[in-house]
Amino acid sequence: MSEKKDAAKELREKLFYTRKNGAGKVSAEVLAEADAFCEGYKVFLDRGKTEREAVACTVAMAEKNGFVPFESGKKYSAGDRVYKVNREKAIVLAVIGKQSAAEGMLISAAHIDSPRLDLKPNPMYESDDLAYFKTHYYGGVKKYQWTTIPMSLHGVVCLADGSKVEINIGEDENDPQICVTDLLIHLSAEQLQRKAMDVIKGENLNLLIGSRPLADDDGSDSVKLNVLKLLNEKYGIVEADFLSAELEAVPAFKARDIGLDRSMIGAYGHDDRVCAYPSLMALFEAEKPEKTCVVCLADKEEIGSEGNTGLNSVYLTNFITDIAESQGVSGRAALSASRCLSADVNAAYDPNFADVYEKRNSSVINGGVVVTKYTGSRGKSGSSDASAEFMAHVRGILDSEDVLWQAGELGRVDAGGGGTVALYIAHYDVDVVDIGVPVLSMHAPLEVVSKLDVYMTKKAIAAFFAKG
Ligand code: MN
Ligand code: MN
Repeated sequence: MSEKKDAAKELREKLFYTRKNGAGKVSAEVLAEADAFCEGYKVFLDRGKTEREAVACTVAMAEKNGFVPFESGKKYSAGDRVYKVNREKAIVLAVIGKQSAAEGMLISAAHIDSPRLDLKPNPMYESDDLAYFKTHYYGGVKKYQWTTIPMSLHGVVCLADGSKVEINIGEDENDPQICVTDLLIHLSAEQLQRKAMDVIKGENLNLLIGSRPLADDDGSDSVKLNVLKLLNEKYGIVEADFLSAELEAVPAFKARDIGLDRSMIGAYGHDDRVCAYPSLMALFEAEKPEKTCVVCLADKEEIGSEGNTGLNSVYLTNFITDIAESQGVSGRAALSASRCLSADVNAAYDPNFADVYEKRNSSVINGGVVVTKYTGSRGKSGSSDASAEFMAHVRGILDSEDVLWQAGELGRVDAGGGGTVALYIAHYDVDVVDIGVPVLSMHAPLEVVSKLDVYMTKKAIAAFFAKG
């Protein structure tokens, strides 16, 4: 009888796929490595809240790690480290491998844009002695989440004379901040009957920027005039200059440890800097890889990857083609032999909202890096859907390098959906699969990830660069 029981136990261990909280499975040493790794990540989050800032931050880090600007037509040799910036909003980096580009390259592609409130082209107005900026939200947001939190303003204003002014207000301890107000509960009887989509309407997302009129002025719009005067004094801009600006309001708080055990990080914009940073760190570790390793940090993913800084543009494939052609290989041949991790977040199972997840196929906090075979909506619409062969290839690499990983899909069938850049890269005949960090409260002003999962994502990408 007991022999039979033992046999069943053995069979269970051999045949069943089981998952547990990975933080209980890895050693204290690995947890300490994860915690240390995430200290650097928190700095990256705070310095790079917008795509432009993330690019600037990446360039500074890359140069410290021996990367130099890429020169098209130049012949590079194994171990050379290059980067190319696309319009200050996206960046591609590579470490040249020992093998020819004909053997293919290994790509990790993440995005560095995040949901936020963009200022409209003509944003400033005054209403009843209060001054505001009108905004147009960027990416998928629950609009009600963006009220009554401190916001900072980031971006550039391009002047008619060709000069450019950089704006960053609200991050420094001594800076003022701005915010969107919400209706007091006492008068919300009607508002609270509305559908959540309409609790705060798009045109309610107006940022409060001033309340004090210009001294000794009894003309119209005196509060707005006073704010404009301050902006003019500090930045030399006039109202018409907003027409040629990209100004983004983002949560002003800094990345912080979450949980009394400090096991998680709460921050704005984990999606997708939480895959961008591990991609960079994995690339920086690569010295003379077998295959050329490429990291692309793209813009515009949150609005469909369109535009010349989104991955539906050819800047990544042009970069790969340039490297390939310098080795006498066609870009087409190099791409066709290439493999890619589309490094993006997935939804972590949230016990608070269990009914939208299918637990057996959801990623969990501390489960490690999540490999997502397909994304999409309804019947996988809009998904790249990695092949079983490529899934097996990636799975083999992760297992061989002791990477804690899990498989996951976004949520219950028909509960909603989403996409990544995977399909745009697959378009070039590249094998692609999504891989990344599970996130709680995705797209909220404060998103939460596990430090262990962030670290395992770096380990996964490093393993792919070594063995992919
Ligand atoms: Mn994303
Ligand atoms: Mn997203």
